[in-house]
Amino acid sequence: MNEVLNRATQVLREVWGYSAFRGPQAEIIEHVANGADALVLLPTGAGKSLCFQVPALMRDGMGVVVSPLIALMQDQVAALREAGVRAEVLNSSLTWPEQQRVDKAVRAGEVDILYVAPERLVTDRCLELLDASTIALFAIDEAHCVSQWGHDFRPEYLRLSVLADRYPQVPRIALTATADSVTRKEILTRLKLGSARVFISSFDRPNIRYRIAERDNARQQLLRFIREEHAGHSGIVYCFTRKSVDETAAFLKASGINALPYHADKEHGTRGEHLGRFIRDDAVVMVATIAFGMGIDKPDVRFVAHLDLPKSIEAYYQETGRAGRDGLPADAWMIYGLADVVQQRRLIDQSLSGEEHKRVSGAKLDALLGLCETVDCRRVRLLDYFGESSGACGNCDNCLKAPDEWDATEAARKLMSCIYRCEQASGFGFGAMQIIDVLTGQRTAKVEQYGHDRVSTFGIGKELSALQWRAVIRQLVALRLLRVDYDRFNILKLTPDAREVLSGRRVLKLRRPSEKAPRQRKARGEEAPSAARDVLTGESAEVFQALREWRKGVAKEHGVPAYTVFHDATLQDIARSLPSSIDGLRGISGVGATKLERYGDPILRLVRERAQRENPRELADSA
Ligand code: ADP
Ligand code: ZN
Repeated sequence: MNEVLNRATQVLREVWGYSAFRGPQAEIIEHVANGADALVLLPTGAGKSLCFQVPALMRDGMGVVVSPLIALMQDQVAALREAGVRAEVLNSSLTWPEQQRVDKAVRAGEVDILYVAPERLVTDRCLELLDASTIALFAIDEAHCVSQWGHDFRPEYLRLSVLADRYPQVPRIALTATADSVTRKEILTRLKLGSARVFISSFDRPNIRYRIAERDNARQQLLRFIREEHAGHSGIVYCFTRKSVDETAAFLKASGINALPYHADKEHGTRGEHLGRFIRDDAVVMVATIAFGMGIDKPDVRFVAHLDLPKSIEAYYQETGRAGRDGLPADAWMIYGLADVVQQRRLIDQSLSGEEHKRVSGAKLDALLGLCETVDCRRVRLLDYFGESSGACGNCDNCLKAPDEWDATEAARKLMSCIYRCEQASGFGFGAMQIIDVLTGQRTAKVEQYGHDRVSTFGIGKELSALQWRAVIRQLVALRLLRVDYDRFNILKLTPDAREVLSGRRVLKLRRPSEKAPRQRKARGEEAPSAARDVLTGESAEVFQALREWRKGVAKEHGVPAYTVFHDATLQDIARSLPSSIDGLRGISGVGATKLERYGDPILRLVRERAQRENPRELADSA
């Protein structure tokens, strides 16, 4: 190993207590520590922060980090300070005396890493402050904010090119989790990073388990999922509308789950308070509209649940990506049904945007529907969408239990004929409910009223239940073999492509609709559900709980989020290995020098007390 990497590894061990770099971190850090520019495209949770924090500590002077969100900056600064790094922040949340204190510290060379809001950085005052300091590097986090076409455009980011002109000798590193090539090019030109080396890695998130199921009773499905697999965990539940955010949060709360609503309508105060509780506490379920989440840096979100379909695979990947940043097992769980398909298509068709935009949005939605209905590995599909090829992952619902594929050609033909016959008999079309009643031979008032009990397709589909027929309809709509006319009572229509199926020229293989909507796997079923994948048992479980309690106290005392004290992964390692000495504790990932000094004794004491309390019983059990 070369000199620079040696020093980087030393810093990593000493400050963070981690034993090795992950993925491309080492290469990036070496490159930047040597004074060169970089653009880093890594998925959420890959460890982008260390890519600038480590070289900032290695190089002379102060690292300057530009970050778009105050909450994000404050959490990062809190985490760095816990690790013994002299970190400060300059943004609009500071009082005047606080600002002066930071100014003074910077001028005295007593700051290792300074976080600055972009609009603050480009002020004369701030630039003059930087002129008077030695600067180790500039890091531009969430660099996609410079993209005018992206979802997070921040006009202030455009002015950051001043750094290239004013400090040509200082290395700059821009980072983002947005991968597409258009954004990449925009970042390079707008930030004047022409000579930067670009680092890209796989966008896979192997610790996330992807599951997509049919919707039956959304709230009950969600409740079962949380209760059986994520009791006591932090999670995010995404809903489409503000109303359903409020209702779902209220429902979960009434069911004993610590859930909070979050959306744009909430008063600013409550929203901030809910966000604070979500980030700081251990087990809050945030029910939110999709606007929630950008820059949410909480590493221990154990699940992201979608009760409604997102707009595209990009959106789905970004939203689910907020789970499991700490690398521990996490779930991306979604339920969806016919109504989602109809709603999303209607939103696109009725939007005021131009034809081209509608066409692109429609294609994006189709790709997402393909992901929902696929019988193959979900991850292969997802990564393929981002241009990455991969093999079956073994950690998605389809890999874990291969869904049945069936030849649905005959069923589709019956359904299509029935739609056609009913319309022919009455002179106008009908919605899914009536068609299913006719297929399954129900003599309802409405069936008799229109004489549909006398059409030739009455009762020809009794081999499938109403729920199964619904699933077939959903899949045919997803495949654009049927369409729903939402301007006229959601009636079902055949599309021109339907003819191929009707004539027998096209064979249809579909995912077999389940008898009932699938129940979540039982907690101790044949294969462990995700939350149980990494559980601690017996003594270790108790020690882990005790450590979490202890951590809560420390976090409260220091006014920082619990995870900045120690991550769950670190506490789990301690609970598993039950160290009895400072040296034993030092070997655990996530325990750096400062934390060892600060917390070593109380942790060892806690472990000792628990171990003593437990051991006699264990002896008695085994006697
Ligand atoms: P990103 O910004 O890419 O989403 P973060 O920088 O927040 O990711 O890192 C995600 C988590 O992984 C953090 O909790 C971080 O402490 C941890 N981490 C990063 N690099 C390493 C490493 N080399 N070893 C162990 N943990 C790491
Ligand atoms: Zn898979």
